[in-house]
Amino acid sequence: MKKNTHQRLRQVQHLVLDMDGTIYLDGILFETTRPFLRSLEELGLGHTFLTNNNSRSRADYARHLQRLGWEVKPTSVFTSAHGTLEYLAAHLPGIRRIFVLGMPGLVEDFEQGGLIVTDQQPEAVIVGFDRHLTYDRLCQTAYWIEQGIPYLATHPDAVCPTQQPTVLPDCGAICALLEVATGRRPDAVPGKPSPEMLAGVMRQNDLQADQLAMVGDRIYTDVKMALLAGALGVLTLTGEATAQDAAESMMPPDLIVEDLADLAGQLTAAKRE
Ligand SMILES: [Mg+2]
Repeated sequence: MKKNTHQRLRQVQHLVLDMDGTIYLDGILFETTRPFLRSLEELGLGHTFLTNNNSRSRADYARHLQRLGWEVKPTSVFTSAHGTLEYLAAHLPGIRRIFVLGMPGLVEDFEQGGLIVTDQQPEAVIVGFDRHLTYDRLCQTAYWIEQGIPYLATHPDAVCPTQQPTVLPDCGAICALLEVATGRRPDAVPGKPSPEMLAGVMRQNDLQADQLAMVGDRIYTDVKMALLAGALGVLTLTGEATAQDAAESMMPPDLIVEDLADLAGQLTAAKRE
């Protein structure tokens, strides 16, 4: 490990953990996840779970993680819904009424964030991940996009990862269809790799970027966002990216770990020095 990385690891107060490929796969927690989270508690470090997938609300994710065996408060979960709320507060603070193409969980998080979700006279249109997509809903979304009001996509992912013999078109693919229909691309996409996603975590926990480590299994989203935000970018080799991908990347991670047990060991060593 580079000396600089070691020093930066010592400064870390809070870890932001990607979910799919980082803490679990196919809905099963990795064996290393619970011991890792316990070691964070022992070291007095905070953590937040973060995902682009907004098909569940943060309250749903908290219940899901509890079922998998880890107690978590809903406010410890950030989805691209929360990145979008941060973006709106920072760049379009006057907007209250929004049209949403997305699942009930996304609507729930926007309403919790103080917005009014409506099909009547919206001030902005927001496209998320919608597994109940209908033609009628697509038509209405395209109509509001064509009216020229602010248009956001929650995250850029083309597909949602799955091990099943199917393809799950995600927000990016839905926006591509809408672009063909309307000629418009989203004005902004606040989900990973946008650093906007980490702004809410920093604000809620009163942290500076150099006190934050982002841990994930994808270089072009998790690591890229960490580097853009000035946080420590940690790649875990338990999901998509390989050590070779990292070596060949234009955006090399600050730290590469085999799994969360490896990271727990390195954090403990740096903190107890
Ligand atoms: Mg992942």
